[in-house]
Amino acid sequence: MEFSSKLIEKAVNEMSQLPGIGKRTALRLVLHLLKQPKEQTTFLSQALLNMREDIKFCENCYNISDEKICEICINSSRNQRTICVVEDIRDVMAIENTGQYKGIYHVLGGKISPIEGVGPGQLNITALTEKVKLGKVDEIIFALSSTMEGDTTNFYIYKQISDSKIIISTIARGISVGDELEYADEVTLGRSILHRVPFEKTFKNN
Ligand SMILES: [Zn+2]
Repeated sequence: MEFSSKLIEKAVNEMSQLPGIGKRTALRLVLHLLKQPKEQTTFLSQALLNMREDIKFCENCYNISDEKICEICINSSRNQRTICVVEDIRDVMAIENTGQYKGIYHVLGGKISPIEGVGPGQLNITALTEKVKLGKVDEIIFALSSTMEGDTTNFYIYKQISDSKIIISTIARGISVGDELEYADEVTLGRSILHRVPFEKTFKNN
């Protein structure tokens, strides 16, 4: 793509680093901003900068939060001893939208993926297994997408905590294999949490 302006070219190049944004879309967005009042670009840039500077991760569950402890963890009406294990904040949002879950979360920050070079050490797994070992947990619910990476991650965590006496369950598979949680409709996802099944049943034949 040939640009008549280095300034535009730089803006387009930066914008097109975002997922799902190709050079053409980036150019359209940049030209759109140019047509708008200058303040709009200021507000956008400032909102992004503030988000990057001030965002925190909940010290308890690793959810993205404005405070040290997120709104879900600090809510005393939530069951602090039931923990739903998810990949990232999009899954927290999807499950919260169902209105069917009253426990708290543990956000791993990804899934184990040898292909993408993600090992257990890069995920928030230790904090979870420590909680279990310290007797702070009654139930762990795995709610990762049922891809190979999701299954590997579930099983890795399961191995770390299978000696404990807690309930280890996984969301019912109304969600078909390979689907990402965030794309499941609210009713299906809500049901799959309510009708969760013992994790062991998913890999043992009895
Ligand atoms: Zn939290």
